Amino acid sequence: MNINENFLKLKAGYLFPEIGRRVTAWTEANPDKTDRLIRCGIGDVTEPLPQAVRDAMHAAIDEQGVAETFHGYGPEQGYGFLRDAIVENQFEGLNISADEVFVSDGSKCDTGNILDIFGKGNKIAITDPVYPVYVDTNVMAGNTGEADENGAYEGLVYLPCTAENNFVPAIPEEKVDLVYLCYPNNPTGTTATREQLESWVAYAKNHGAIILYDAAYEAFVRDSSVPRSIFEIEGAHECAIEFRSFSKNGGFTGVRCAYTVIPKTLTVKASTGEEVSLHSLWNRRQSTKFNGASYPVQRGAAAVFSPEGKEQVSALIEHYMGNAALLRKACQDLGLKVFGGENAPYVWVQCPEGVGSWDMFDKMLEEAQVVITPGAGFGAAGEGYFRISSFNTRENVEEVCKRIAAIS
Ligand SMILES: *Cc1c(COP(=O)(O)O)cnc(C)c1O
Repeated sequence: MNINENFLKLKAGYLFPEIGRRVTAWTEANPDKTDRLIRCGIGDVTEPLPQAVRDAMHAAIDEQGVAETFHGYGPEQGYGFLRDAIVENQFEGLNISADEVFVSDGSKCDTGNILDIFGKGNKIAITDPVYPVYVDTNVMAGNTGEADENGAYEGLVYLPCTAENNFVPAIPEEKVDLVYLCYPNNPTGTTATREQLESWVAYAKNHGAIILYDAAYEAFVRDSSVPRSIFEIEGAHECAIEFRSFSKNGGFTGVRCAYTVIPKTLTVKASTGEEVSLHSLWNRRQSTKFNGASYPVQRGAAAVFSPEGKEQVSALIEHYMGNAALLRKACQDLGLKVFGGENAPYVWVQCPEGVGSWDMFDKMLEEAQVVITPGAGFGAAGEGYFRISSFNTRENVEEVCKRIAAIS
């Protein structure tokens, strides 16, 4: 009897448990102030599901109650009505067809599951700081060695993202096989320029590498010069997979719907020399291990692209981006250097000179009763920064800004 011992290499989730521990210790020591606590740490939306989405879901549930309109197992790849709507509304002019879109129940699952179609021994690059899912899924898949005392895994290539490189990693000197890029970025809230993505696509094509492009925050891009999809870059159809989600734009974190785009032109040479389509491998993988996202949820997702849905989603984005602007200004007024938050719902703030991420966390908790996320929790290069999430009510954000202004 053997277990997957790669799981034993995982560092016990450090960031959020440690935040929880410090908040609990503080609330126990300050019972009288506990109801002042405002959490700006989470990456979850706070506004309810748009009306158009709920209406579509209600109607779909009613269909499920009538034999004539009942839907049982659907296509593993997603219903045609949703795949068509995605292509029409999100990839117009980008040479993506509906059958290159795979609907799922989340990008977290997709970015983890995608490793099923890649073999052992690949060199994997991730940014630092990073969305922890990319790291832990590679540890589970056996693509790394052990972690060192700083939590860095042997065998992964870490690409530091700091103010010096505008939070877009330099092209590596060495050859890597897979590289995870996420823009607009979680946690830094920053974006990549067209030129930067062009150089990544050129690198990938030169080295036979694949870019795993996480565009979960695409809907928050307001600057028209910022690319929303890797497929805006010429050549990406031969070297990239894109992940998108309804979680952050449509508020689907609790109802679950996302999709992965794999162009049919994306092939990799097998050991036999045969060119193998990653699209067909993923199709086989999904058909075998997944039975599709639920019908009412896919109807709800399609409603995001209805005229009312579009209006309601854009109001949600406006709301969160209005919060981000307030939070940016409050931190700037305090004399802090602020990044992100202009095309993404996260504001990434440099701690005052000589103050570490966790010290800043404690200071914000004690002086302002505001919970932020310390940058160091997302990777070594995040030390000296913290993340404030704009996923909150306006009332909370205004209160947070007032309290930030009062910090010593
Ligand atoms: C929120 C988020 C997602 C979306 O995940 P779902 O499983 O679709 O909810 C994907 N990538 C990043 C970086 C995220 O922050």
